[in-house]
Amino acid sequence: MTPLFTLPQMLEGGLWAGIAVIFVLSVFYSVRRRLRVRRARATPFIFRCAVCGHVYFDRRNVPMAECPKCGNMNETIKGF
Ligand SMILES: [Zn+2]
Repeated sequence: MTPLFTLPQMLEGGLWAGIAVIFVLSVFYSVRRRLRVRRARATPFIFRCAVCGHVYFDRRNVPMAECPKCGNMNETIKGF
């Protein structure tokens, strides 16, 4: 009896399946990263300086940012 697929055909099929999985995953992760960047852009982090009272924004995902006026490190404010 002859097998339905020969060994080289099975290997080739597995190779293409692997490439397809990697391609789908890379597209999925690039789309997800783009969505996350857009959300971060829409909500910048708000800081208020404890020394001079200056309110400023920082789009970087950091818990503290330096005041552009006096250089004091301030924590982010969660909304006004
Ligand atoms: Zn300041």
